[in-house]
Amino acid sequence: MNKAIRKYLIAGNWKMNKTASEAEDLVKDIHQSVGQQTEVGVCICPPFTALETSARLLEGSNIQLGAQNMYPKAEGAYTGEVSPVMLRSLFCTFVILGHSERREYFGETDAFINEKVLASFESSLKPILCVGEKLEEREAEKTLEVVREQLEGGLKDVTSEQAENLVVAYEPVWAIGTGKTATPEMAQEVHAVIRSWLVERFGETVAHKIRILYGGSMKPANAEELLAQPDIDGGLIGGASLQAKSFIELVNLAKQA
Ligand code: PEP
Repeated sequence: MNKAIRKYLIAGNWKMNKTASEAEDLVKDIHQSVGQQTEVGVCICPPFTALETSARLLEGSNIQLGAQNMYPKAEGAYTGEVSPVMLRSLFCTFVILGHSERREYFGETDAFINEKVLASFESSLKPILCVGEKLEEREAEKTLEVVREQLEGGLKDVTSEQAENLVVAYEPVWAIGTGKTATPEMAQEVHAVIRSWLVERFGETVAHKIRILYGGSMKPANAEELLAQPDIDGGLIGGASLQAKSFIELVNLAKQA
């Protein structure tokens, strides 16, 4: 099926960077350059503490806001956590779930990520579900097995109707923040397997609407080739989303892809 039915999405994962006032400068620059275009979906995911400032600055623009995590309950005694309802009240559209840093440093399992995915849909947030293999898993030729298992677990009980609002991000863990990128061919191989899995699980029509982003040291120098692959529908960008110049360049590259 033709890739043109999907709009590219360039999503910036700021991780634990930028205070609210630092965010203000970055958001203003991004807004000024790509805030009005509609050809490419653009999303920024600042830390929780900069969401409100960012939401205010993005009002009236075409840039969407996302969070980097959430707790799968609407409210209650969960000290230190943030709920999907709270994120919606700050005008978040997306939420990154199952990022490898959360899996690794906070022990998040596929079952817990699945609870979050289901809760995000209930609050009309669009999850960006991250999957990807570690270096030792790639070396043991277990990449496809690991990715399928993360999809099975993370998307358990998700309906086809909900899946229309799903975004998947393939992020090989060994490529995150390391400067190492999967070659476009390596990435496409996994993206194609993810697409087939989505077809089996949700049917052709829905699966071909789901965007599969690549993440892992994506930057202007390597984005063009990655974005040209038939099943790469954008990027989840860490390091290169922290400077306006590189993030804007990535959006412009997606426009031309
Ligand atoms: C990420 O953590 O989602 C990511 C892709 O980071 P980087 O671009 O820095 O590798």
